[in-house]
Amino acid sequence: MKRSRLLTRLWEFQNKFGFISDNAILEIAQKLRVSKIEIEGVISFYHFFHRKPTGKYIIYLNNSIISEFKNFETVKVAFEKETGCTFGIYSDNPLFSLFETSCIGLSDQESAALINFYPFTNLTPKRVKKIVNHLKIGKDLSEIADNPTSKIHYTPNEEKTIFFRDYILGNALQNLNKNTPEGVLETLFKTKLKGHGGAFFSTGLKWKYCKESTSEKKYIICNADEGEPGTFKDKSLINNLPGLIIEGMVIAAFITGAKKGIIYLRTEYNYLLEKLQNTIAEFKEKGFLGKQICGIKNFNFNIKIQLGAGAYVCGAETGLIESLEGNRGEPRIRKYFPTEFGYLGYSTVVNNVETFAKAARIIELGADHFSKIGTENSKGTKIISVSGDVAKPGIYEVEWGITLKELLLLSHATAPYFVQISGPSGECINQAEFNRKICEEDLLCGGSVMVFNRYRSIIQIIENFINFFNKESCGACTPCRAGNQILLEKIKKIKRGICTTKDLNDIKEWGKIIALGSRCGLGQTSSNTLIMALDKFKDYFDLKVMSCDINCNIEFDMEAAVFDYDNLIKETQY
Ligand code: SF4
Repeated sequence: MKRSRLLTRLWEFQNKFGFISDNAILEIAQKLRVSKIEIEGVISFYHFFHRKPTGKYIIYLNNSIISEFKNFETVKVAFEKETGCTFGIYSDNPLFSLFETSCIGLSDQESAALINFYPFTNLTPKRVKKIVNHLKIGKDLSEIADNPTSKIHYTPNEEKTIFFRDYILGNALQNLNKNTPEGVLETLFKTKLKGHGGAFFSTGLKWKYCKESTSEKKYIICNADEGEPGTFKDKSLINNLPGLIIEGMVIAAFITGAKKGIIYLRTEYNYLLEKLQNTIAEFKEKGFLGKQICGIKNFNFNIKIQLGAGAYVCGAETGLIESLEGNRGEPRIRKYFPTEFGYLGYSTVVNNVETFAKAARIIELGADHFSKIGTENSKGTKIISVSGDVAKPGIYEVEWGITLKELLLLSHATAPYFVQISGPSGECINQAEFNRKICEEDLLCGGSVMVFNRYRSIIQIIENFINFFNKESCGACTPCRAGNQILLEKIKKIKRGICTTKDLNDIKEWGKIIALGSRCGLGQTSSNTLIMALDKFKDYFDLKVMSCDINCNIEFDMEAAVFDYDNLIKETQY
């Protein structure tokens, strides 16, 4: 057995027995000729593998901040009451096991849970009771699960829609036999296409590096491990336009000469697996995958799908490659780009779902069409997942350059006050910045906008984010592993009203240490929001510190301090 099959093999045991036993580990270790400890190490890295027996139904309840502000707590209590189990505790209950999990890509339909990876949305205690009763009497999960489709809202000018327009399978690919790899690459360069996974690196350059590589084999990997909390746009693309993504991968193969492609699909989107498989089969049938694609001599390319197993950091390209190779998904030390040393040591292109879909549309519609849309550096449109305090949550395809204010109006935001762009690793925006433009020249957006009104607790939002990073840190770098824990302790001090000015300064210093000493994007960005919020919502934090300072002053001048404290509270309460 090849090491790269390890995740698939572990899933087979997990799905069949509900957990991975000592015997299973021994069997795998012998087949791979590695130690049992090494297999244990891989299993312990991923949230969805269990070493202890679980019930027939494993329930994962999403604990993202959007869910917290909906009815996470009451839904959690309801699940415990109806099943008789406790979250996070393995029991001998044969039917149910309960776990919390981070964002499952359903922020527009919270509170949400996965039951054996079937989606259940808009949960309330009443619905939980009904669902659990159905499961107790043996109803089929596929019959009672929800349709998790997100509502798609178009750009104000529908003519400028690029992604969510009519799609005909093969439309982009049919032009390949009239073109050369160099010509197709040139078209991508003209549109300044950049990766939409967060780094915004030039896609044309990345594919060019792989094309020019002398690597014996080459791989095209589609990162469908969209784990940034608040983001669900890639899910919508897979659900609505799976063919467009595959066409993008085929184009990448045409340019680079790669023969194999892999879609790394997060297990949270397991319900989309069949759709992807069917699309791949249809491509093969129509001659757009397999041998002599589009009748082009020696143009052979195939795609397989690999399921992840629950680890945010596998969204980082080298973490994802490690995971595909059957290892813990720890991001590599940046020594080589994947185009130099990628999957199994070969030249590899890794791009996310949206990038491949956009590349396909560029080849289908032409560079000129794109050049007319967007801004100088950000051509075309962007898909954004909007959630939180808005009347119309869902997917928005907007022209690059739209202002945040326009997007907030489109989504019917209710009293927006604190807006989080690009998930917890992105940046927080205050009301004074609502006129900023979403584009490379101003405010880059990876794909999510979470809106919070002025009645939401800022410290609760930030605590949820730092908690998330703490849980998802792979632990390889000490500053990330320990630093985020320290930030969490500081946040708890702020919440308890015992934070001092020194604590806030410490937070900034720790933020720098974590960012500088961390290997991957998780550590490099985990303190961003907290540190930005200290400046952008200064009044809010000043109040927290000042009330503590006054409490401290009580010892010295009780009368004056109490007077000041009362006034302060009256003036600054939200
Ligand atoms: Fe792991 Fe954090 Fe280091 Fe990234 S920064 S490699 S998540 S410890």
